[in-house]
Amino acid sequence: MAPLSLPPGKKTVAQKLLGRLNFTRVWCFRGILKGFIGKGLLGKILGNPLGPNTSFYVENNGVDRMVKTPSPCLNPSAQGTPSYDVVIIGCGVSGANIARRLSAYRLRVAVVEKAADVSFGTSKANSGIIHGGFHHPKKYLKSRLEIQGNWMFDRLHQELGFPFKRCGIIVAALHEDEMKAVEHLYWQGRENGALGLELCSRERLLSLEPQLSPEVVGGLYAPAGGIIEPYRFVFALVESALTNGVHLYTNWKVVDAHWNTEKKEWRLVNQEGGSLSARFVVNAAGLYADEVSRLFGAEEYIITPRKGEYFLLDRLTPVRPERVVFPVPSALSKGMLVIPTVEGTVLVGPTADPALSKEDVATTAEHLDIILEAGKRLVPGLNRNDVITTFAGLRPVLGEDFYIEPSTKVPSLIHVAGIQSPGLTASPAIGEYVKDLLKAAGLELTEKPDWNPCLPPRPQARNLSPYEWDDLVQNDPAWGHLVCRCETVTEAEIVEAIRQGHTTLDGIKYFTRAQMGRCQGAFCTYKIIKILMRETGMSYEEITKHGETSQILRGAL
Ligand SMILES: Cc1cc2nc3c(=O)[nH]c(=O)nc-3n(C[C@H](O)[C@H](O)[C@H](O)COP(=O)(O)OP(=O)(O)OC[C@H]3O[C@@H](n4cnc5c(N)ncnc54)[C@H](O)[C@@H]3O)c2cc1C
Repeated sequence: MAPLSLPPGKKTVAQKLLGRLNFTRVWCFRGILKGFIGKGLLGKILGNPLGPNTSFYVENNGVDRMVKTPSPCLNPSAQGTPSYDVVIIGCGVSGANIARRLSAYRLRVAVVEKAADVSFGTSKANSGIIHGGFHHPKKYLKSRLEIQGNWMFDRLHQELGFPFKRCGIIVAALHEDEMKAVEHLYWQGRENGALGLELCSRERLLSLEPQLSPEVVGGLYAPAGGIIEPYRFVFALVESALTNGVHLYTNWKVVDAHWNTEKKEWRLVNQEGGSLSARFVVNAAGLYADEVSRLFGAEEYIITPRKGEYFLLDRLTPVRPERVVFPVPSALSKGMLVIPTVEGTVLVGPTADPALSKEDVATTAEHLDIILEAGKRLVPGLNRNDVITTFAGLRPVLGEDFYIEPSTKVPSLIHVAGIQSPGLTASPAIGEYVKDLLKAAGLELTEKPDWNPCLPPRPQARNLSPYEWDDLVQNDPAWGHLVCRCETVTEAEIVEAIRQGHTTLDGIKYFTRAQMGRCQGAFCTYKIIKILMRETGMSYEEITKHGETSQILRGAL
């Protein structure tokens, strides 16, 4: 077969970019950037001369751009107290699935989220596994929703285009006496309705996953298990919901709630005194669902945060299993696992320890040593040198099961609380389940004839052929400006993230993967800040990592 070649005289984008790269300059800039941040000089260089909230054109490598407003359904300007049929409190994966499901009906629906962006709670920091349906007994609601949720992912993936891979899950037993527990998982999964489960010999497991420990004695294979990037799943759900008319208010923390007996509706009040009214409210506030319940005078319960810490290994690690590898679980957790992520990196973890508070996401050297040891027991080749970062997530612990029920104390409030693992897997089914609860509570559901379940495909430079990439550059030179070299993210993709409403560094990171690679943003953060300033009119001091007080540049000489 003839090798692929470009027409004469035409350079591929990769060739053009390589021609432009000057590595010495980039390395020098890193040092200079550090000095500038220390001295407050960067602010002067990045400063927006027109002041905050100003729309303006900025020349940048030949690309002139203008601020574009994101969806009109994102933070719509509200006069008085806008009224909705349903308001969902919390935009993690539960709230986002419920919102998207309700967007199929002729309803006025809003989601309110206290953070600067969606998926900034538990939904951003987890293992990203679509579980196989064998870890919990059938008596739990979470087991039933896990199985249903798992089945729903193929269709959601087709409609919304978020990365998803049904890579399969392995549970590896390292001692003969663990095989009893493996058999228990097998029969439990069968009873739950999990598809394709297989009890495996040592040889079968090693043929499926040759990088497993030679000490493995056998285990379980669940081919229906999978992996996703959780925040991109939430972003896609939210984009779909907004396209279909749902309103989203960010930086909107519910601090008070009043029931109007005459109008039969709730009035929700935020931290700035703004308000919304709703015939029905869904409390999907994750770790804070207990506090939200209290605001409504509804059921008293306590949610305790349980921390899970992780190691993230670079995509260049030579040790990357094809499937998710679990140990045999303990009574407290599913154990520490080795997870090939859908974007090619590897996660090791999580721990399961009490957290100091609902905001305590610190990682500790002591726990990370424990994680590495546990990971190495399953996959001995794991190497500390491949670690590029650590992070932690918090499980909202409330008993053993999900608590998804209408309040029996106050009217028109549905609790979606205690959504621990497998909450991500179950979330599409949670959307369905809550829709049915709302219907049973009296919400009329009339289908919208023009509901659009699909999002348009969104190109990503790292997945394009040189020809496809070249075509994009011809139409928009921003596709030719590489911002994040580790993850191959272009300026056009950063701009698209901003136009979708992601205006914090973390929001852009989760949307595009820029800052997620080996250098963890050392090279691209300043470029992203410049683009953010140009596209939004924000000053450098208004740019944050994840909202509130997470400013990264302050002051000027
Ligand atoms: C370490 C770890 C690993 C996990 N691994 C997996 C896995 O591999 N697979 C799986 O299926 N599940 C997993 N899970 C579980 C999964 O992550 C959760 O079940 C899921 O993310 C919960 O989503 P949620 O929307 O209910 O909560 P959250 O994502 O926490 O969303 C709640 C939202 O409510 C907002 N909020 C709170 N209070 C207010 C207020 N007063 N006003 C407005 N907004 C408010 C918060 O800011 C937050 O954004 C894991 C969890 C952890 C911690």
